[in-house]
Amino acid sequence: MDLKALGAVLRCPLCNCPLRSPTTLTCGHTLCSHHQTAPCPLPQCTPQNGPPRPRNRPTSRVQYLPPPPPAPLPPASVDVPKLDVSINKIIALLDRVFQDNDTDSGDDDDDDAGASPPLSPAVRQRSDSASPSVRPRKRQRLLSTGPESDDDNDLLSHLRASSARQREIDPHSPPDNSPEDSLEKELLTELSCEICFMLLYSPVTTPCQHTFCGKCLYRSLDHNNLCPLCRDALPGFSFFEDHPVNQILETLLVTAFPEMYTERGEAIAAEERDARLDTPIFVCMLIFPGHPTALHFFEPRYRLMLRRCLEQEVPSFGMIMPARPGAAGAQPDYGTMLEIRSVQMLADGRSMVETWSTFRFRILERGTLDGYTVGRIERIDDVPDSPTLGLTGPFNEELMEICTAFLLQLRRGTAPWVVQRLHNVHGPPPDDPAAFSYWVALVLPIDDYEKAKLLPIRSARLRLRLVVHWIEQLNSNWWFASGCVVV
Ligand SMILES: [Zn+2]
Ligand SMILES: [Zn+2]
Ligand SMILES: [Zn+2]
Ligand SMILES: [Zn+2]
Repeated sequence: MDLKALGAVLRCPLCNCPLRSPTTLTCGHTLCSHHQTAPCPLPQCTPQNGPPRPRNRPTSRVQYLPPPPPAPLPPASVDVPKLDVSINKIIALLDRVFQDNDTDSGDDDDDDAGASPPLSPAVRQRSDSASPSVRPRKRQRLLSTGPESDDDNDLLSHLRASSARQREIDPHSPPDNSPEDSLEKELLTELSCEICFMLLYSPVTTPCQHTFCGKCLYRSLDHNNLCPLCRDALPGFSFFEDHPVNQILETLLVTAFPEMYTERGEAIAAEERDARLDTPIFVCMLIFPGHPTALHFFEPRYRLMLRRCLEQEVPSFGMIMPARPGAAGAQPDYGTMLEIRSVQMLADGRSMVETWSTFRFRILERGTLDGYTVGRIERIDDVPDSPTLGLTGPFNEELMEICTAFLLQLRRGTAPWVVQRLHNVHGPPPDDPAAFSYWVALVLPIDDYEKAKLLPIRSARLRLRLVVHWIEQLNSNWWFASGCVVV
C-alpha cells in the first residue's frame, strides 16, 4: 500500500497542509475545521452545483418534479466543530504507521502515544486502541447493543445479512497477518459503511460527520430521519438527494482499494439489474387499463421500489389488490401495469406519483425483494371475438346499450353525481367496447373483488356480459330500487 499516495490525498484543499481536525461540508469538500467553513471558502466550489439532477434517466418520458429546496441547515456549533469521523480515524491510523516506520530502527518499542505529533484528542484516543482485529470487534459491537439496535433495525439487519452473504464469497480476506496486512485491514475497516459493512461506495457524509454509502443512506432515510450511528436528527430526504460525495474519502477509496472499489460498483449495478429483471408489484387497489391514477408513495419499501422504477427506460410497475380481508386466500394473480407519468418528490422523501394504466397481466411466479412483491408476469390481451369462442347471445352494441340505459337511469334517479363523477374523472364513455367495459364497471356499486373478475377475461364481449349481469342483479335488488347507492 502506497502510504505517500494516501498521505497526499489527506490534505486540506484550502491551506494545502495535511488535514488537521477535518470537517466535511455539504459540498463534499473536507477542510481543517479551524477555517471558516460556512459557506465553503474554496473558490472552485459552487455551492449548489447547479439545479438538482432528476433521478430518472434523461431519455425517460416521466416528468420529474424535484422536492422543494431543503430548509437551510442550522449554523454548525462554532465552539466545537464536528470532526469527520472516518477521515479523522484514517489520519490517526496513518500517523501511527508513519511514526512506527520512523522509530522502527531495530528498537521494537510499543507504539507509545506520548511521542505522537500533536493531534486532536479524538485522534489520540483512536491510536491508543488500535488493534489488528478491528474489523471483527467492530462488527460484534454493532450487532449486539449498538445505539442503533434499539428500534427500527429491520432494515439494518436486513442489509447486514445480505452484505454478510456477499462477503462470504468475497475473495478479499487476507490470510496472513503482516504489518502491511494489518494496516490494510484497519484502513478497510475505516473505509467500510456502517450500514452494509462493505467498502463504502459513493460515500456521503452527514452533518453529524458520519459517512455511509449514498444508497445505504437513502434506504435508512426511507425509514426515519435519524443518523443510523449517532441517532442525530438528519435534514430530510431532499437534502441528500444528489448530495455530493465526500471527495477525499472517494479519492482514498480509489487510491487504496482500486479493484475492490470497482468490484463494489459492478456488484451494485448487477444487484440493480437483477432487481429490474422481475416486475415490481404494488399491492394496493383495483385498477383497470386506460385510466389515470394518482398514488402517494410513503411506505419505505415502496419508496425504494419507486426509485428503482425511475431508473428504468420506461418506468412502470404492476398493481394488484391485496388479498381479500378475512379470507385466508393469497394475493390475486391478476393485475394491471401502471406507467409512471410524473413524480412530485416531497421534501421528506415521500412522493405523489401520476400513472396511466396500460395493460393487464397475470403473475406466473412471485417473490419478494427488499420487502415488496416482485413477479414474473404474462401480459393479458383480448382475443378477437371469433366463432371458435362459441359466443351466443347479445352483441357488443346491444350490451353497451343496456349499460348506457342503466347509467341514464342512475343520472335521472337518486344519484346523478355518480355518473357525473365518472365523466369528470374518466372522461366521456369510450366507443371501444373493451374500454367501455372497464369504464362502466368503475361506477357500479359493487365490491371491487367482484369487479376484479373482469381482469382475466380476454374478450370484450364476455366482459360486457358480466357487467350486464351485475346490472341485472342490481336492478332486481330491493335496496338498489329504494335508492341506496353506495360507491
Ligand atoms: Zn486547512
Ligand atoms: Zn466546497
Ligand atoms: Zn453501505
Ligand atoms: Zn451521525
